[in-house]
Amino acid sequence: MRIILMGPPGAGKGTQAKRLVDKFGMAHLSSGDIFRAEKAGGSALGQKLAEYMNAGQLVPDEIVVEIMAKAITSCDSPAGLLLDGFPRTVAQAEALDAQLDQAGKSLDGVVVITADEDEIVERITGRRSCSDCGKVYHVKYLRPQNDNLCDKCNVQLVQRADDTEGVIRQRLAAYNLQTEPVIAYYRGRPNVQTLFVNGTQPPDNVTADLVQGLEQLKTEM
Ligand SMILES: [Zn+2]
Repeated sequence: MRIILMGPPGAGKGTQAKRLVDKFGMAHLSSGDIFRAEKAGGSALGQKLAEYMNAGQLVPDEIVVEIMAKAITSCDSPAGLLLDGFPRTVAQAEALDAQLDQAGKSLDGVVVITADEDEIVERITGRRSCSDCGKVYHVKYLRPQNDNLCDKCNVQLVQRADDTEGVIRQRLAAYNLQTEPVIAYYRGRPNVQTLFVNGTQPPDNVTADLVQGLEQLKTEM
C-alpha cells in the first residue's frame, strides 16, 4: 500500500502517521525527517539543501523531488509506504508519479485529515508548556492542577511565541493554497483513491476512521 497523508498544521497528522505505521507496518517517509538526515549526512545534495533551509528559503521542487525520489526508490518495505510532507505542489506530485511509473509502481491513495480552522486556532492558541520538563497543557482541554503551573515542576507555563491566532491563520492559508491544487490533481487520477477523515474528533476516533478507510482501500487494491 502506497499512500500520501496530508493535513493542516494542528490537526494531529504526526501522531496519526505514527499510529498508521504501527498498525499497517509500512515505511514512514516524512520529508522533514528525510531532509534533516540528508542535511546531517553532508552529501552534495544535503549541502545544497542546508543552504536553503538555513537561509529560511523554500527548497526548490527539483531538490525536494531528487531527495524524496532517492528515499522512495531505496525503500523496500513489503507493506509499502506512507508519504508525509510530500508532495506539496502539483509539480512534485507529477514528478512522484513519473518516479513510481519508472519503478513499475503506483500510488494507491491520498488520505486527507481535515479540521475546522477555528478549532485548530483554539487548539493551538490554548497550548501552554513547561519550560523545565516540556510537558504540554491546554487552557481548556488539559488544564494543570494549579492555575498556569506545571503539575510536576511547579514552574510557570509558557506559550510559544508563534502559537498566536495571526500566525496560525497565516499557516493555514498557506497550507490551503498549496494543498488544494494537489488534492484536485489526485482526484483527477482514476486509480488513486482520495479519503477524507474528520480530524476534529478525539485522536482515537480519528485513528479508527483512518484505519477503517485504509482497510477498505486495501480490499479495493
Ligand atoms: Zn514541568
